[in-house]
Amino acid sequence: MRRCRLCEGEIGTNRSDKEAHVCIVKSAVRPDGCWLEGSSGLKAMCAGALTYTPTQQFEDRAVAFRKIGDAIDKSDLHLRNALLSLTPEQRFELMRRACPELKVKLSPLLADVQTEKVKPPDREPFIPDDLPEGLKSELVRYRDRLKRRHELLLKRGHSRSPRYLSELLKMPVRLARFLQAEGITSWDGMRKRDIVSFLAANPLVRPTALTRLLRAISEDKPFSERRGRYVRGRTASKPSPLQEVLSPAELDAALAGIKESRSDVEYAAAWLVGKLGMTAAAAHGLTADLLRLDETGRLVIRPAKVWVVVPKSIAKILAKVADEVAPGWSGANANEFEFIRLFDNKLPKLDDFRSDVLGGDARRLRASAVYTAMLRGNLDRVTLNQTMGVSIATITSIERHLSSDLHRKVAPELVDARNKVLRGDDGAD
Ligand SMILES: [Zn+2]
Repeated sequence: MRRCRLCEGEIGTNRSDKEAHVCIVKSAVRPDGCWLEGSSGLKAMCAGALTYTPTQQFEDRAVAFRKIGDAIDKSDLHLRNALLSLTPEQRFELMRRACPELKVKLSPLLADVQTEKVKPPDREPFIPDDLPEGLKSELVRYRDRLKRRHELLLKRGHSRSPRYLSELLKMPVRLARFLQAEGITSWDGMRKRDIVSFLAANPLVRPTALTRLLRAISEDKPFSERRGRYVRGRTASKPSPLQEVLSPAELDAALAGIKESRSDVEYAAAWLVGKLGMTAAAAHGLTADLLRLDETGRLVIRPAKVWVVVPKSIAKILAKVADEVAPGWSGANANEFEFIRLFDNKLPKLDDFRSDVLGGDARRLRASAVYTAMLRGNLDRVTLNQTMGVSIATITSIERHLSSDLHRKVAPELVDARNKVLRGDDGAD
């Protein structure tokens, strides 16, 4: 029998084949004194949030909810101390799993005790120990190199998913395993045909998943002869592919369609994508700290670095949602509500939001928002980047529509005048 990590009672089970790890599962026979049965609603919420997985994350979660649950019916000072005593990983698990009410209670305190944003710990890239030395040492070197580059990126203000490094190393490790099985023990021994048969055996692997590794391996060979050769794609960066966009009228029609067929909240979220240029994920995960009222009482939102005003019809919907999930949002200071997701339970799951609400067209809607802003005269890349958070590369790619359109829009008499100059009969003499 297991002991509950929260109330420490022994958890029984009504199934012969399975133990219950936490009190919240159906099969559990709850011990006396279980938090779920007690009179404290807040303690019960902690117990309700503690789900079991056989991972380190569960250990972090269990410690976090235990400490917080112990303090939650006492003063804010107790609760703040409990939060302070958690590790960053435990805080992350706590805020990830907590129900909306708990989040509302904990967010302001958490904003007090920590200055840095709570984020999941980076996943350590994994290189199996039993690989042949010749394969392993090169992978370790490659990993360290990726790590250094990753640190540099972070220092420059970029962000990457916590799985970034481990994802980059996944395919190289799989290739190493493949070579090992073929009896190849070093990267020098790998031939093109080995890569081809690896890709044939793993049809889902994109060939590009290996290019970076292959380049790194060949670069490390001091005598590989490259001098005097043209190396493709090294000096000039390739232009990014042209993004498809809708005209402003088409975009308005698309949004009107969404407005007609979907709920208010779904429409507002789609509007954030199609008009403010937010990604579907960012709109879906919008947190309440990114909404404010300005001095004149208008609702403003911060999709990227600056606050922008939202039209009344959208403001009404957003304010109503915010009042519900984050009471006091308009008077909040700093990042008090950074964990309260505005659309928690109000929008379908992100994938369904993309496919059902946005019709699988999220990218194009967002690009169209940028394009429309450009047509309105917001041609400055920095402004677009700061208001919409669109990368400069994407902006560049959308700008290419603009240049051809602008040419087309030049008034015929101007073209005529220019041609006269070119022909030398502009009447200047
Ligand atoms: Zn319990």
